[in-house]
Amino acid sequence: MNYSKVLTQISTPLFTAESIFRRLVQNLLVVFNYHEISDSPSEFCLDFNLNVRPDVFSKQLSWIKKYFNIISPNDLIKGDFKLPAALITFDDGFKGAFTSGGNILKSYDIPAVVFMNMGPVNGGMCLSGLINYLLKYDIKFKNQINTKYGNELKNDSFLRCAESDILEYFNTNGYDILPIAQEYHGKFALESDLKKSVDSGLYLGNHLYNHSNAVSLSDLELKNQYIKNENELVNYKNYLPIFSYPFGQPGKCYNKHTSNIIFSLGAKSIFTAMPFYNNGKRENLIHRTAMFDYINTESIFRSHCLMPAFMNQVLRRIDPYGY
Ligand SMILES: [Zn+2]
Repeated sequence: MNYSKVLTQISTPLFTAESIFRRLVQNLLVVFNYHEISDSPSEFCLDFNLNVRPDVFSKQLSWIKKYFNIISPNDLIKGDFKLPAALITFDDGFKGAFTSGGNILKSYDIPAVVFMNMGPVNGGMCLSGLINYLLKYDIKFKNQINTKYGNELKNDSFLRCAESDILEYFNTNGYDILPIAQEYHGKFALESDLKKSVDSGLYLGNHLYNHSNAVSLSDLELKNQYIKNENELVNYKNYLPIFSYPFGQPGKCYNKHTSNIIFSLGAKSIFTAMPFYNNGKRENLIHRTAMFDYINTESIFRSHCLMPAFMNQVLRRIDPYGY
């Protein structure tokens, strides 16, 4: 069940009044998170609700602009902004984020940051697409992973898979599935898209080289994944040393230890995929509200923005690093 959608639908009638909404968000920084912007999304994007159609994206930006001061990632790093503030972010480097998304952002003159995995841009693997393809279509692989890591977190088995599991699969089965898995995932941005991105007001951030789950890596592997990715990104003048965790869920995908490592490598801010509120003051660990295609009316948008209030209420006694 999509709990986020259900909660939004239940709460929509409560926040139909603009004035109430404005009061509730007046001291907040809300960081919105997108992945793909496309009229013909990939199967992977549909499976995981990662796509927003361009016309819906455009409407969502108009509502964000109406209620928030939209800031750039540089404003965030400097702590130089007025509340209520909003920042637009993307993860993974899907092609449509740069093309359709970039064009729409430019038309509104809105800045945004795309957290990149440079591995797939260089023609290499994106672990999330590959692992989820195999778990969906290769029963033998799925059984192997469930046997190896246990069944207690069956729905999260994609978080447990390591690059070594994939390499083991390739050693046994060859590389034939790679192009099919890439088609399942959807198109990545090319180097040329990244070069042009500065003209659309886009900044680039770090999301690890191959989209590994930070918690599944050794300290050295995590450092290597971060540095390898950064070494590619510094070639672009719009790169900023800010980082978002692949998968982004507390405990399973990040903890204080992984964050200490990332900060020690020079990251100025770290972004999660946890829809907690951010207090207005500058924080190092910044939580984000995922945006979906079903947020297609202004009242649904207002209600969805207030989702973190529910999360804070339910989880407020719990450590955001690892509940
Ligand atoms: Zn990601």
